[in-house]
Amino acid sequence: MHKFRKDDEMKTLLVGGGAREHAIAKALKKGDVTLFACMHNKNPGIAKLCEDFRMVKETDVEKVVDYARRKNIELCVVGPEAPLEKGVGDELEKNGIKTVGPTKNAAEIETSKSFMRNLMKKHNIPGDVECKVFDNADDAKDFVEKMGDVVVKPVGLTGGKGVKIVGEQLKDSDDALNYAKEIIKNKIGGIPKVVVEEKIVGEEFTLQGFCDGKKIVPMPAVQDNKRAFENDEGPNTGGMGSYSQEDGLLPFLKKNEYDVAVDIMQKIIWAMKKEGREYKGILYGQFMLSKAGPRVIECNARFGDPEAMNVLPLLESDFVEVCNRIVDGKLSNASFMKKATVCKYVVPKGYGVKSMADRVLTVDEKKIEKEGAELFYASVNERDGKIYTTTSRALGVLGVADSIEKAEVIAENGLKHISGEIYVRHDIGKKDYIEKKVKRMEGIRNAV
Ligand code: AMP
Repeated sequence: MHKFRKDDEMKTLLVGGGAREHAIAKALKKGDVTLFACMHNKNPGIAKLCEDFRMVKETDVEKVVDYARRKNIELCVVGPEAPLEKGVGDELEKNGIKTVGPTKNAAEIETSKSFMRNLMKKHNIPGDVECKVFDNADDAKDFVEKMGDVVVKPVGLTGGKGVKIVGEQLKDSDDALNYAKEIIKNKIGGIPKVVVEEKIVGEEFTLQGFCDGKKIVPMPAVQDNKRAFENDEGPNTGGMGSYSQEDGLLPFLKKNEYDVAVDIMQKIIWAMKKEGREYKGILYGQFMLSKAGPRVIECNARFGDPEAMNVLPLLESDFVEVCNRIVDGKLSNASFMKKATVCKYVVPKGYGVKSMADRVLTVDEKKIEKEGAELFYASVNERDGKIYTTTSRALGVLGVADSIEKAEVIAENGLKHISGEIYVRHDIGKKDYIEKKVKRMEGIRNAV
């Protein structure tokens, strides 16, 4: 283990420039680190916390590693999945830089949906869903017809936006087969293969865990809301806002169900080790709580965005020490404050369809702080002291309190001090919205 002294700050590099990475930067700065960053946009929140940063594409592994070597970086935390897929973790480790984030091989748990499904099948991990991978859509016909309602996904990465579901974006089996053809023909997600999956009905939740190759230390459960518009309408997005409950569960999620999800993730970590793909970093499990319990929708090889903003501010343990324990294979427990959180994303108008990029955002940081809310900068650019939107999400505003209801009010109070051509889903975390989810889940549990 590394020893920490106040006068011996660890030179730490953060890769990524979104709100998730701003949350990671804040958590790292609570410990003894000198922070550096590689990011493609100038995130003003991260820039302020850094000794130095480099504007570079996060997937440009050579440049990231070169910067890390020049700055004598000792520890690196990788935010997004794309650099992991390019092997940034492997290259940093080759250069003696310990990395919180799996190797390219281990990151396949996210970057290849077929790898994840095969792993679950081979190791008899519970919570799997029935699915098959095809490289020819004609071969998928029998399976689609047998399954009825299906979900069609590209095998490769699409940032959560390539998934289509019968009954939502797809009308029927014919539609599903046509979309499968399109994925293969146009190599959507970069790979000419498609996953056809059984459609699971339920409420979604996220469970994130710290992993040291052997053990998983779980964090509070979170629910992200991916649909662009209120009442869960409109296209799927990267996530519009999220909430967590003071006891680490969710209003519709019981303790025994949470424990089942933790057990599934622990079994995935053991399976990865058996496969020679030891997993060190953050494992993100996206679950659907069905009538039959938690089912795995997908695994990600990093923190969720927005979910990192819900959990990291609650972490009472020293995050720098947790990171060191992850890379040294010596994780012990981590403790989290018993508080609820609500995070709302401010996005450019038109987000999810056609974003209004490059517009000025006015943000009164002091007033937001006075309201007791916490601000996270996402994909914005700072130029000449002004903040500009991009096509992606712009700012996250977080409320932390003793209940979801109170945390929601704090987040809304913070949002009053942000203006520009923006859009926010105000319903996320509100009482009615949560009650609707609990009722829906009750209906699913009681269905015969
Ligand atoms: P993914 O990119 O796999 O996270 O999928 C995006 C969204 O599609 C998820 O957040 C779910 O809402 C939905 N989805 C994916 N797979 C399934 C499934 N097997 N059953 C029901 N919904 C799904």
